[in-house]
Amino acid sequence: MTLADQVRQAGVVGAGGAGFPTHVKLAARADTLVANGAECEPLLVTDQWVTIAHAEAVIEALRLAADAVGARRRVLAVKRHYHPVIDRVRPLLKDGPEVELFLLDDFYPAGDEHVLVHEVTGRVVPEGGIPPEVGVVVQNVATLLNIRRAVDGHPVITRPITVAGEVVRPGVYEAPVGTSVAEVIAAAGGALRPDVAVIEGGPMMGWLLPSLDHPVTKTTSGYLVLPSDNPAVLSRKVSMATQMRRATAVCCQCRTCTDLCPRALLGHRIRPHLAMRAALAGWAVPPDVLAMGYLCSQCGVCEVYACTMGLSPRAILGEYRGRVGAAKTPNPYRNRPEAAEEAQAWARAPKPRVTMRLNLAEYVLPHDGAIVPVPDPWEVCLLLKQHVGAPAVARVRKGDAVVRGQMVADIPEGALGARLHASIDGVVSFVDDRSIRIARAP
Ligand code: SF4
Ligand code: SF4
Repeated sequence: MTLADQVRQAGVVGAGGAGFPTHVKLAARADTLVANGAECEPLLVTDQWVTIAHAEAVIEALRLAADAVGARRRVLAVKRHYHPVIDRVRPLLKDGPEVELFLLDDFYPAGDEHVLVHEVTGRVVPEGGIPPEVGVVVQNVATLLNIRRAVDGHPVITRPITVAGEVVRPGVYEAPVGTSVAEVIAAAGGALRPDVAVIEGGPMMGWLLPSLDHPVTKTTSGYLVLPSDNPAVLSRKVSMATQMRRATAVCCQCRTCTDLCPRALLGHRIRPHLAMRAALAGWAVPPDVLAMGYLCSQCGVCEVYACTMGLSPRAILGEYRGRVGAAKTPNPYRNRPEAAEEAQAWARAPKPRVTMRLNLAEYVLPHDGAIVPVPDPWEVCLLLKQHVGAPAVARVRKGDAVVRGQMVADIPEGALGARLHASIDGVVSFVDDRSIRIARAP
């Protein structure tokens, strides 16, 4: 069985992003494989703690994945100040085929795949494109751990998660997939104050959870328990109508958002200041500006770091992206710049500055620590779509007894997708076309 087959059976998806099925990535051909350990969002430390705790497995999987795609250059990319990570992995790189340690400066978003590929190789991923188009495959370090586990026949049934902010014991917790947010926070000792909101993911690209019943998925990287008046929380509560009004009334067209946009700096034709100007046109935004929504990574640099007026080109471009997506308008931008803009080398958002802008400095965690397992909950809720592609199709029915690791939902015939496995022993208590619930065996 090939590595891609083992990974497909184990339901491995990209742990650092939207959850692209990893077996598909392993079918690509590339000359370079980059293990992404940059972890550039403020407060998140999951990848660092995982790499330290499972360094041998991560490095071994890096070599296996590189072999699978035919990559001769193998790179582990981490920030140069992640000293505990560097000290842990450096001795391991001496044995076996060469793996290069690539040290990144501490800027945001160093872990964005397009930015990372440029840092490591000097190549620019085309507009709207993906790294294999320039001969590079990027795998997050937590994905590599799951690849290594897949080789041993272990499916993805747990997820390491940074729990930070206003909790009693902040740190990294490994929870069964499908555990509720409330139970993960309880494992961290609970919230320190009543007026908190929870962001899933990082403070730049994460989303505000509407409820603490929401389940852990294979892509959950963090839960940030923040005061309800924290800037990262407040910005997510602004309605689109208000964002549009602010764009038309306040934007002075200074174009700092464009000058500091990481994708514009790579030579992509995204111009957030033009997106703001076009907001004046309401529903008659020019098609070439609307389509810039396709080029926006939603990184938030424009909103949190660039704009001194407190505006959000990110939100406006997200709205435009929704409009062109709903209209099924093809992305007209497909240029492949030969080189990034000269300013790309210095027009960067230092992560400590971003952390301070969001008033998060008091919650920063150390670079290493012991990952704490979360006990099995009474019930897990497995979402059938927690990856890029088609939702998985349930292969169990209400009342079926299942054991931990058993496949409970499969990839639809001929579709892009990922399998799901029971994360606890128990009995299936509910099934519909969105989720499977398993009640823990008494
Ligand atoms: S930085 Fe702010 S004020 Fe300046 S062009 Fe961009 S959105 Fe407008
Ligand atoms: S969120 Fe802003 S800075 Fe980031 S890619 Fe989009 S427009 Fe550029």
